[in-house]
Amino acid sequence: MKNYIGIDLGGTNIRACLMDENGGLKVFHKEKTDVSKKPDRVANQIIKIVKMLQGRSVRGDITTGCCIGLAGLLSPDGRIVKIGPNFGWRDVHFADMLSRHIDIDIHIVNDLTAVSYGEFRMGAGKNSKNMFCVFVGSGIGSALILNKTPYEGSSNVAGELGHIKIREGGRLCGCGARGCLEAYTGGNPVRERIIEIAKSDKDSFFYRAVRGNTEKLNYSFVEKGYLKKDAISTAIWEEIRDLLSMAIANVVTVYNPDCVVIGGGAILNTPRLLSSVMNDIRKYATPPSLSKLKIEKAVLGDDAGMIGAALLMRDQE
Ligand SMILES: [Zn+2]
Repeated sequence: MKNYIGIDLGGTNIRACLMDENGGLKVFHKEKTDVSKKPDRVANQIIKIVKMLQGRSVRGDITTGCCIGLAGLLSPDGRIVKIGPNFGWRDVHFADMLSRHIDIDIHIVNDLTAVSYGEFRMGAGKNSKNMFCVFVGSGIGSALILNKTPYEGSSNVAGELGHIKIREGGRLCGCGARGCLEAYTGGNPVRERIIEIAKSDKDSFFYRAVRGNTEKLNYSFVEKGYLKKDAISTAIWEEIRDLLSMAIANVVTVYNPDCVVIGGGAILNTPRLLSSVMNDIRKYATPPSLSKLKIEKAVLGDDAGMIGAALLMRDQE
């Protein structure tokens, strides 16, 4: 039987699995990402994990490929990590670094491509044909699956919903541009925004909620303040709800998917916001685009990336 390796390479953890051709998970492995985050150190970690997993296959089975999902911008051929924000990487020839020491096919994909494919094949998007997946975590990630195939675009960078522009000359985004959706709705930018409010106003809900210990603030405090009817929290909460639901609804209007999957730590920890966004997508998308639409919460959690990566390897072979 053929086996495949799927790896989710995150800034904090590496999750890896060995999967058989029927989609059965045989081995699961998790370890901390090397704190230096240097390309050669991380490459060595991956090489060791791949060799370990290859050694765990049953006698007679062969492991034919390994797919790695990581956050970042990749070259069109998927061999070079042009920008890896979680690692501080620029133009790292990561696939070649691995291929020199590993005798199976290596593929690198954007982490959301892997996550969405995992949800599509084995999670919330099972049985759909055209799926749009949005993750609200530290940033905003998204990916499209069209006709059961990940759509990556002409230069491999499709699906950057976080960086569509929604305000002329607006808030500065981590990508360097102004007015991106992520700057208003992503976990890190929202956290920074409420820390700023807390520091500048000791009477603010955010300052009082953590007794001045502003490092404890995170996305969920916007919802806490909203539920307590705090005016500033409510304004931010409603802005996030409106911007996110409109942006997702616009994708629904343009691409007419049959399933939208929403996940990510920030929004899964703000249940009222999540359910409001899920409702309001229907308010803003054109009615004909809604006739076959299901809107689901992501269900695979932290395993989605490694499972999706292994399945991508299997299905693209
Ligand atoms: Zn941006």
